[in-house]
Amino acid sequence: MTARLVHRAFRLVLGVLATTLAATAPLAAQNFDELVAVPRGTVALTNAKVFDGTGAPAATGQTIIIEGDQIAAVGPTGSVDVPSGARVIDLSGQTVIPGLVGLHNHSYYTGGNGRAAQLSFSGSRLYLASGVTTIRTTGAQQPYAELNLKSEIDAGRVVGPTMFTTGPYLTGEQSSSQTMTQLEGPEQARRVVRYWSEEGVDWFKAYTWISRAELGAAIEEAHRHGVKVTAHLCSVGYREAVALGIDNLEHGLFANSEYAPNKSPDECPPGFRNGYADLDIQGPEVQATFRDMIENDVPMTSTLVVYEISVAGREPIDERVFDVLAPEIAEEVRAISIQRRAGRGAIDPAVYQKALEYEKAFVEAGGLLAAGVDPTGYGAAPPGFGDQRNYELLLEAGFSAAEVLQIMSHNGAKVLGIDDRVGTIAAGMTADLVVIDADLEEAGDLHDTSIVFRHGIGWDSAKLIDSVRGIVGVR
Ligand SMILES: [Zn+2]
Repeated sequence: MTARLVHRAFRLVLGVLATTLAATAPLAAQNFDELVAVPRGTVALTNAKVFDGTGAPAATGQTIIIEGDQIAAVGPTGSVDVPSGARVIDLSGQTVIPGLVGLHNHSYYTGGNGRAAQLSFSGSRLYLASGVTTIRTTGAQQPYAELNLKSEIDAGRVVGPTMFTTGPYLTGEQSSSQTMTQLEGPEQARRVVRYWSEEGVDWFKAYTWISRAELGAAIEEAHRHGVKVTAHLCSVGYREAVALGIDNLEHGLFANSEYAPNKSPDECPPGFRNGYADLDIQGPEVQATFRDMIENDVPMTSTLVVYEISVAGREPIDERVFDVLAPEIAEEVRAISIQRRAGRGAIDPAVYQKALEYEKAFVEAGGLLAAGVDPTGYGAAPPGFGDQRNYELLLEAGFSAAEVLQIMSHNGAKVLGIDDRVGTIAAGMTADLVVIDADLEEAGDLHDTSIVFRHGIGWDSAKLIDSVRGIVGVR
């Protein structure tokens, strides 16, 4: 064993020990102080460059006053009163953005070989460490694990983001999934939705083999309970789903089969994306989809990072991904990402570019685009780090930094219906803020995230990452 491996094994044992203790220790023994950089109180962040999340360009030389869990004031340094006794943190040369709102941010993760693990401990910490202060899980493998995790986070017993939970996936009988509800008809859809709505989930996610009748029934029943429905579709086209009253659509172009010539009703045409390399984004078919979505207020969720692993010619996966994964998972993910990039099951680079174009054009047409990581692909997009990669991919799609941050914060909050308190930086909003130890526009990525404020508590990003290093993918 090399020194590095010994060190890793030691960290792994420590991590598992910490997790076990966290799971069994009595409440009073829970102490997260060492992970906190700035305790909740009165805090003045001065001289910062601030993106407020509205899509407006950054303002320099700003002061943000945090009082408890709220933002009390924002404005040019010198014009904002700093309360006496405030802890003053000079952020010259640094950037502040709103806490990110991850809209496709599962509480579980799948490693390279498709083995899934509920990451209630490490995933929650990685989301927060990466600046993601709110998540919608968008499909649960273990709905009770999610509901319980949400309560633990709300109660301050587990470190993680604010959660919007999901019931079990809803798909059709043809699906080979072992964890989803394989619906036998609309009545079962209603029964499942009713049960989990009453148990307290916030959303449902329909999946690739649901029928129109089942999807319509699920939406109707969910809405009756004040719960919403999104979908990763295939058997149902986007326009059909909009007509059925769906609330959100996941994955952009990658999950819309309605442009495939071999599409027949309630069927998922195999390999439909492969034909999309020449899709005319300005053409009548695509524009009709956008019009239907926009007129019916149906937002789209971008998850570019989860598809990038399968695109030949893309830059290598960031090493920090492998560095945080459990060693055996890291090996798997590295092996499969090399295979996928080499063409096994790969996505045509032209189709990938088309997907970027699709999302940009949707926004230009007036659509509401949000974003999320989807950590359930081949493992190269773990919680948080994958969200940060999305920032770079949306820049590549042609959005400005301010627009990308709007997509990743304010727009997500709008989809969740919480934009009156989350997603932008303004007086009266919840103190969910991310400090980046760089000029973000010069850096071009979110890797220098240093302090993540959620509800006014400033978490130390590096310490949170260190607290889960070597166990991500396992627990
Ligand atoms: Zn998903």
